Amino acid sequence: MAITKKHSAELAKQVFEYAPAPEAIDHVKIQPRYGLFIGGKMGAPHSRKRFPTINPATEKTLSEVVEGDEVDVDRAVKAASKAFDSWARLSPSRRARYLFRISRLVQERSRELAVVETMDGGKPIKESRDVDIPLSAAHFFYYAGWADKLEWAFPNRKPRPLGVAGQVIPWNFPLLMLAWKIAPALAAGNTVVLKPAETTPLSAMVFAEICMQAELPPGVVNIVTGAGKTGSLLVTHPAVKKVAFTGSTEVGKLIQRAIAGSGKRLTLELGGKAANIVFEDAPLDQAVEGIVNGIYFNQGHVCCAGSRLLVQESIAEPLLEKLKRRLSTLRLGDPLDKNTDIGAINSRAQLEKIQGLVESGVEEGAELYQPECVLPERGFWFPPSLFTNVSQSYRIAREEIFGPVLSVLTFRTPTEAVEKANNTPYGLSAGVWTDKGSRILWMAERMRAGVVWANTFNRFDPTSPFGGYKESGFGREGGVHGLLPYLELN
Ligand code: NDP
Repeated sequence: MAITKKHSAELAKQVFEYAPAPEAIDHVKIQPRYGLFIGGKMGAPHSRKRFPTINPATEKTLSEVVEGDEVDVDRAVKAASKAFDSWARLSPSRRARYLFRISRLVQERSRELAVVETMDGGKPIKESRDVDIPLSAAHFFYYAGWADKLEWAFPNRKPRPLGVAGQVIPWNFPLLMLAWKIAPALAAGNTVVLKPAETTPLSAMVFAEICMQAELPPGVVNIVTGAGKTGSLLVTHPAVKKVAFTGSTEVGKLIQRAIAGSGKRLTLELGGKAANIVFEDAPLDQAVEGIVNGIYFNQGHVCCAGSRLLVQESIAEPLLEKLKRRLSTLRLGDPLDKNTDIGAINSRAQLEKIQGLVESGVEEGAELYQPECVLPERGFWFPPSLFTNVSQSYRIAREEIFGPVLSVLTFRTPTEAVEKANNTPYGLSAGVWTDKGSRILWMAERMRAGVVWANTFNRFDPTSPFGGYKESGFGREGGVHGLLPYLELN
């Protein structure tokens, strides 16, 4: 039967019921308490303080982890220093073998890791299963390939590792951020001490088991759980030669100040307020998918999220109509259900921050749209939201919300689009949607953003460098560029 225009409009309005499709969790063993991973062993900590890590979708405690203190951090750094000489001298192809082994083990344990990531962080299982875990394995695989080719990567130079790297990561992509940090550091011959985020330490604990399974020499990787204080102790430890941080701009600045003059190398991957720019000649349905992926992926807990939609005035109306219709089909709920598009907000504190910024948007005069959506009674939830009537001066257009909230602005000319896109203290990413290749290149040359996606958004690949300008930080992770911060080049 031919589908008429009227018929297809009716189909588009139809809401499909989905039977629950929960991911099995009986294959996952989360321990009630974890120690610290130092010197190749999960051992007892010096600190007596512990804190619970909860499932943000249910508020139930999953496990208890240690709040590492000064002695714990010092032990971990000493273990890493002790391991450094032999790891740095190991033949590069043997170092590569360990990294390949880790990559294989991440793949083998991927179902377990995806469930742990989803339970601890609240992200939909289809995202942890299809994005976080495969990309983490790919990162180890990619940098394993570089371990014995450093002299080809940097010809006529003598690449040498730096020593112990102190790495602090956030809660939005816990295992992936761990992989972005640990894989290049190890490939370059450094040893590491890593502190995972307070709300999402569990995949790092599974990773510690993977290091043991891979028979990684003791001390090459050390993991100390804890809060901000633990992170601060780690980055300021005198034996740490290189600091790598991903998180808020505020903490990034604190770290920069704390280690200024110490001679430590530093890379910072901080916040963003990316513009996703749609021109009138763009394929609108595709652009709508890109906008949704840009801001609602991982509940908007993404540093490079396309949180400002800049749409050409002539198509604003049809685009917004399509976008609102698409929003009404997003399914919010149990993150372990394979049909879920929007999971739980990572923590109560983050939920309050999102609520506060959304309230400020309404107070300042923007118009809020939220599709009808039933929020579960327990846990931390926020519906997919979009604001129209937004002025560039509003807080929702300037500040990083780090939640599923889109601010829509319009423009008339490409020059105006560039000006508005660059009108932010951040500079991490941007997106351009247009039919014209020449316009993509014209825009990309003028935007102050580390990554510019063309007719797509939130695409990641280990071979591709990622990082920011301005208050989004400095240094690059991924690709050959990602090796540089971990090497001395003579
Ligand atoms: P933070 O920047 O506070 O946390 C990132 C990591 O740094 C965590 O492991 C944290 O530990 C640790 N940390 C905190 N204080 C210090 C310190 N003084 N020295 C060393 N390490 C420290 O981010 P939040 O979790 O507080 O999130 C706040 C906001 O930051 C979010 O709303 C979002 O806007 C932004 N953010 C941006 C991210 C990005 O990828 N660019 C990622 C995460 C957040 P602990 O977890 O124990 O606090």
